[in-house]
Amino acid sequence: MADPRDACGVLGLYGVRGAAPMATLGLHALQHRGQESAGIVTGHNGSLFCRKGMGLVAQVFSGSEGSSLPGEIAVGHVRYSTAGGSSLANAQPLVGRYLGGEVAVAHNGTLAAGAALSEALARKGALFQTTTDTELFLHLLAQEQAASESAVAAMLAHAGPAFAAIFLFPDKMIAARDPWGFRPLVLGRLGKGYAVASETCAFDQMGAVYEREIRPGEMVIFDDGGCRSRCFGDSGGVTARCLLEHIYFARPDSVVFGATPHVVRWQSGVVLAGEFPLEADLVVAIPDSGVSAAMGFASALGLPVERGLIRNHYVGRSFIAPGPEARAMAVRMKHNVVREVVRGRRVVLVDDSLIRGTTTATLSRDLRDAGATEVHLRIACPPTRHPCLYGVDFPRREELLAHRYSLQEIQERLHMDSLGYLSLDGLAGIFGAERDSFCTACWTGNYPV
Ligand code: SF4
Repeated sequence: MADPRDACGVLGLYGVRGAAPMATLGLHALQHRGQESAGIVTGHNGSLFCRKGMGLVAQVFSGSEGSSLPGEIAVGHVRYSTAGGSSLANAQPLVGRYLGGEVAVAHNGTLAAGAALSEALARKGALFQTTTDTELFLHLLAQEQAASESAVAAMLAHAGPAFAAIFLFPDKMIAARDPWGFRPLVLGRLGKGYAVASETCAFDQMGAVYEREIRPGEMVIFDDGGCRSRCFGDSGGVTARCLLEHIYFARPDSVVFGATPHVVRWQSGVVLAGEFPLEADLVVAIPDSGVSAAMGFASALGLPVERGLIRNHYVGRSFIAPGPEARAMAVRMKHNVVREVVRGRRVVLVDDSLIRGTTTATLSRDLRDAGATEVHLRIACPPTRHPCLYGVDFPRREELLAHRYSLQEIQERLHMDSLGYLSLDGLAGIFGAERDSFCTACWTGNYPV
């Protein structure tokens, strides 16, 4: 899959000497969650210090820029825009000043009620400096007129879904997840201090030790008194963790929602093989997204999994190229066939998901041109038919392949000898007793909030 993008990665450190350079390390590990901009804000001697810019973490914090931010508390962010455009003004963390003092916020997610909240605030005379919904947190906080925990709790209770957010005050840090738990946020220890991040791969990078998930509706406060927890909101018993984090977004080596995405993806491949077995000579993953599922699929059917496709990591999004020929060329820049591997063989392509199908149609032709005698496609999640309201940037509904076409039509359009999507029941079954604690709206259209 190449189309949907996540809405960012967040990171917070409290009581860590050299917090900014450490945060830079952690943001490198979260780079897959957003590549448009990166930023760090630190707190020191009652003030906030900020550096952010457009581009990758390595570009924004090349040299000693990160180290020059003083303090032992820091919040960091990598961004892919889901609400508001890609610009420096929208780069996070956002910093504001209100009656309670200075505050910075880093946010992963999209506020589903953002448009209504903006309009209500604008009617009251609010002046917006960005076009990102994250700024709403600052306006809502300003209305509370205090820097107390209670003010933050009251503000979060009104924000609605979806957020995993970290707030930095000069002497205090607060990390929170919305009451439905759409986006991930984990808590760990780093020396005598604390770390919070979207994924545990950031902890591994910094040498932090994972303790637990921050719970839906929980805010964790870090200050001179240590670390304490407080509940700010209740979803009425509905938990809606984003299942696409496990399928696609999160790094395979992280721990997300208490499980390891590589293991979940591997198991999804096993279940998929049970639902759509076939006779073939080898399994080829669409790199890198389909690798774990392809391994599980191949292992279940006793087939070899081989590198029949090689990905070029240095080219951008394929679908922005205009026209089918230009788009096919862009796909070829991204993936190239290893002819020796596929020639004269029946190939099963495995990917984690199928959104527009642009890449996959070109790959099928390329594999046949390289001598593959059959090309089959197996997708390790259900047909994606609906957009996301909670912080993942999807193409428009009309651009989603499974929204426009029947499965038979998709198979024909992609030039496949057969096609199989993992069933929702098969996917959810991987999580056992927790199967109903996930959002599945992009497959079912049942939006939990
Ligand atoms: S709609 Fe899909 S991408 Fe969005 S939160 Fe739900 S599962 Fe995740």
